[in-house]
Amino acid sequence: MLIIEWSLASGWEKPYIKPLENLSLHPASSSLHYAVELFEGMKAYRGVDGRIRLFRPTLNMDRMARSARRATLPPSLGVKKPTKALLYVILSPVGPYFAGGCFSPISLWADPKYVRAWKGGTGDCKLGGNYGSSIYAQQEAMELGCQQVLWLYGEDHQITEVGTMNLFLYWINEDGENELATPPLDGIILPGVTRQSILDLARNWGEFKVSERYITMSDLTAALEENRVKEMFGAGTACIVCPVSKILYKGKHLHVPTMENGPQIATRFLNKLSDIQYGREDSDWAMLVS
Ligand SMILES: *Cc1c(COP(=O)(O)O)cnc(C)c1O
Repeated sequence: MLIIEWSLASGWEKPYIKPLENLSLHPASSSLHYAVELFEGMKAYRGVDGRIRLFRPTLNMDRMARSARRATLPPSLGVKKPTKALLYVILSPVGPYFAGGCFSPISLWADPKYVRAWKGGTGDCKLGGNYGSSIYAQQEAMELGCQQVLWLYGEDHQITEVGTMNLFLYWINEDGENELATPPLDGIILPGVTRQSILDLARNWGEFKVSERYITMSDLTAALEENRVKEMFGAGTACIVCPVSKILYKGKHLHVPTMENGPQIATRFLNKLSDIQYGREDSDWAMLVS
């Protein structure tokens, strides 16, 4: 096998040839060549009582089984198309979390020239191929002084997701109602566990309208002009919620007043979910594992 290593520090090294070893992941594996590959992102939380909890792990397991079906990988270990599969689990407990720490707002770049997912594609599964191809756009966003990509879809520039997070808008909608809105699971949205939990909590509170609906960039810009936007935030396991303060769209910097408004709702979700994850509050969403 010919091997040439590369690093940022020294670039391409001298090529060398060595016999192919008996590696657990063969270099010609279809997971490397054709991204026949999937992953999950689930945390183990060390609680305030020192015990370790998982948060709604069956949702991750169900999603993993759906990803596996789409990638023709074995959902359990019954064999389908590929004749071999490899499952890695990397465990790293997350230390006690105290709300209010890492809550700085991010700026987004919204440009329809790159698309994260499309109808009939794999955007609703956690397949590796979805992510490798998004890095180029992420880099361009950073060159333009933004931190993440606001992924748009379709001729009407629907707002779909933020980087690798689901997106929520808390606003006064076109009918003058207080509404928490997130795009529907129509095949191009990754069904996040955090997304589902935020919807479940908000519906349970029953204090404002909760919608899975389409939102376009023109809906958003109109609402910003009319001061109807209260909060916009990303949602995912990594940070729970992530406030959005700026969007660069068609060469214009749009200011989103998330931080000026608390952010009240985003903070409430953050506190509630982290209280459950770190055992400050009892809930059947937490599964004790030690
Ligand atoms: C993982 C992921 C999310 C968030 O999912 P969680 O289960 O809440 O962590 C959202 N969007 C994309 C594209 C993702 O890959």
